[in-house]
Amino acid sequence: MAINERELAELVNLHSTQKLDPFKGVKKLPVQEYFTSGHRTCQGCESALVMKMMVKAAGPRTIVLGSTGCMYVANTTYYSTAWVVPWMHTQLGSSGSAALGAAAALKALMRKGKMKDEPINVIAFCGDGGGADMGISAISATLTHPDYNCLILMYDNESYANTDIQLSGSTPWGAHTTFSPPGTKKRIMHHRWKKNMAGMMAAGHPECRYVATVDMSFPVLAMNAVRKALTIGGPTFIHSLDPCPKGWDYDPIQSHELGELAVTSGVWPLYEVENGVLRLLGKTRDIAEGRLKRSPVRDYLNRQGRFAHFTDDDIEYFQSKVDEMWNKWLVPGVIPFRKQVEEDKPPAQG
Ligand code: SF4
Ligand code: MG
Repeated sequence: MAINERELAELVNLHSTQKLDPFKGVKKLPVQEYFTSGHRTCQGCESALVMKMMVKAAGPRTIVLGSTGCMYVANTTYYSTAWVVPWMHTQLGSSGSAALGAAAALKALMRKGKMKDEPINVIAFCGDGGGADMGISAISATLTHPDYNCLILMYDNESYANTDIQLSGSTPWGAHTTFSPPGTKKRIMHHRWKKNMAGMMAAGHPECRYVATVDMSFPVLAMNAVRKALTIGGPTFIHSLDPCPKGWDYDPIQSHELGELAVTSGVWPLYEVENGVLRLLGKTRDIAEGRLKRSPVRDYLNRQGRFAHFTDDDIEYFQSKVDEMWNKWLVPGVIPFRKQVEEDKPPAQG
């Protein structure tokens, strides 16, 4: 006889979660802030906006755990913090372990009657260095444990921004970072395509019931992804792409527009995978269903100083790789398998 969802929940003894209904629009957002003044992020920092909206979506009965990175260092400088909810630092690669540990501790304390039994959100965040590189094993391990309610949010500014913009596994092809400065002999110092974290987490973790990609230029979609992840429960994962004026080298006033261009150019597809069902969201869905034409990647790249050394060939190559995501991947924009392996031709150096 098939096991139903309630029986499965009893089997893993999953605690109930807060029921967080989706917001209907920006005008319906609560006015309360749980990430306020007192932080020292750069002007135009989208990752700070992610923190603010993430915890606004989660509400006051939330514990936030943060691994080392910009959102740790800039938000909790000695004797000052922007966090209104309980917050704890954890080591650089430990967002997964911290999330699982905090969720397990709460469960144990409630079981022993040492604290009130109520649904409390546990969110652990990490940057791309702390998540896609150093912390990937702990995140993966956590996503295999269906018995604990916790959300891991990876804010991806595409570099180790906190320590002066070194390249990470999430840095885009060809970008100028302090580890990949373009030279006269060799123009492109970074040859790897960005890691596909959300696709990897969704495809590889059958116990994880919710994975989403978000972008704070589309705040209601992003906040509703947080609310859905926390409501569904078990271990969940959200990957956010965050324009970073310092690392991407642009005027801070452009942050919002760059976030939009990342999506409309097709570089950053927005989607969620809920109980194994993939749903494209927002403008990504419009692109996939033919209502919106993808904007040229050139418009996105040319606004950022980290790509200022690109030649036309480099831009064309970048465009061809994004086209490949949409035209050749078996699940366009999400899962990078191709029906047939084709030759990859990066531009010649010089
Ligand atoms: Fe934000 Fe980038 Fe500044 Fe870090 S370096 S605080 S991510 S804008
Ligand atoms: Mg980073």
